[in-house]
Amino acid sequence: MSKKQPMLLLTPPLFPAEAPMEREEFEGIPCNYCHGNGWFWGMDGRLERVKQTCPVCRGRKKLKAIVTIQWVADEGDNK
Ligand SMILES: [Zn+2]
Repeated sequence: MSKKQPMLLLTPPLFPAEAPMEREEFEGIPCNYCHGNGWFWGMDGRLERVKQTCPVCRGRKKLKAIVTIQWVADEGDNK
């Protein structure tokens, strides 16, 4: 089955000395903690079943990934 996947192609920025940090946001990624429901069944103080908002996506069903990239000199010995 086909799968949509967020992807980032790494290319050094135009002015790496002045702006060595990059930030990208990927929105609309389904929350797998609550399986995209936005809530769970939980128990209240009287042990009755209540809907509890997902603590990860806060009921929004989706997540946003914020990716920060820092460009530095590669001082390793790899060729
Ligand atoms: Zn969630």
